[in-house]
Amino acid sequence: MENAALLSAIVKNAIDGIITIDDLGTIESINPAACKLFDYFPEEVVGKNIAMLMPSPHAGKHDQYLKNYKTTGKPSIIGVGRELVGLRKDGYQFPMKLGVSEVQYAGRAIFAGFIHDLTQQKLDEERLKNYASHLEELVEERTKSLNDTIEALQTAKEKVSHTLEKQVELSRLKNRFLAMASHEFRTPLSSIQLSVSLIEKYFESGDGINLSKHLFKIKNSVTSLTAILNDFLYVDNLEAGKVSASNSHFDLVEFAEGIIEEMQLLAKGNQNIIFAHSGIRTKVYLDKNLLRNCVTNLITNAIKYSGDTCCIDLKTQINDQGCTVTVHDDGIGIPLENQEHLFEAFYRANNTGNIPGTGLGLNIVARYVVLMKGTAHFTSSQAQGTLFTLTFPIS
Ligand code: ADP
Repeated sequence: MENAALLSAIVKNAIDGIITIDDLGTIESINPAACKLFDYFPEEVVGKNIAMLMPSPHAGKHDQYLKNYKTTGKPSIIGVGRELVGLRKDGYQFPMKLGVSEVQYAGRAIFAGFIHDLTQQKLDEERLKNYASHLEELVEERTKSLNDTIEALQTAKEKVSHTLEKQVELSRLKNRFLAMASHEFRTPLSSIQLSVSLIEKYFESGDGINLSKHLFKIKNSVTSLTAILNDFLYVDNLEAGKVSASNSHFDLVEFAEGIIEEMQLLAKGNQNIIFAHSGIRTKVYLDKNLLRNCVTNLITNAIKYSGDTCCIDLKTQINDQGCTVTVHDDGIGIPLENQEHLFEAFYRANNTGNIPGTGLGLNIVARYVVLMKGTAHFTSSQAQGTLFTLTFPIS
């Protein structure tokens, strides 16, 4: 008896809800915790079917569950805890964990259900899940901003190293210029110095012929010094990205004839510059100044690197494929081993001897041609001379 009182006190004071039903599903007892959970008074539920505490579809199927168990003896929930949904009197549904045990008492089966409210646990789980996904979002956001920062840093690094590379290249060019200038300036400067002292002498003796000879020499030396400085300025401007092609329509034949006329004056001894054009069209759309610089550079080289008696051919051609300008000479040629680097700044072949030069002209030509979207190449042999070809697309 004492045991029964103890048991009843335990059931009454249990934190979890405890409900007993008979084998037809009729509620026989309900403890205060279960009443609180479902918001019923005991008299409202005792004697009624347990289905009233379940939402559909379980409510409609509960009787069948019990019947199945009775006929097959196979439990679906008995002995196993399961998470289900409870239905409160006001229709509110709440999550709960239900454990059912079968008790044989006084010759009949009684089912006791132990109900643990999962509302708080589910809320906590939900909060945790939300917090986790918020954290994930935060991590994703931070990762993205970190990646953006890394990318920006990378771009800045590339920019800095590009600038640095440019600086290094520029200072390398300037160093090479100094080396070249100290070498190439010496000849015209000492020639000027010598001519000046001779002029003094010829002036005293009134030797007009020698006077004008040395004045001419000074003029030539100044021209070649100016040419060296100009070449360096052109390269410097190209390096600084200050040069761009500014195309216009002009007559290539008129243009070439003008150049021939000027260049013939600079040719040595019996050097003959001959021009020929092929193709019906004569108009081109190129940068006149850049092209003039290219052609005069090539002809100057042909003059410089050929003997006193020779022919230098300037040929132009315009057809459907494009416009071609070639300069051919039968001078000293370019040794095979020097040909690979010929368009590099300050590069000179090893057969130039004491022919003056800076090694800048061809570098300027190649870069100007690229600015006009053309290509420059050459073939050369020490036996047959040199042929430079500039090709431009027709537009
Ligand atoms: P440079 O002032 O030395 O002539 P360039 O850049 O114009 O400089 O030419 C580079 C080098 O290419 C020359 O030093 C020379 O070795 C070689 N070169 C250029 N044109 C000719 C040519 N027509 N015949 C032989 N060598 C040439």
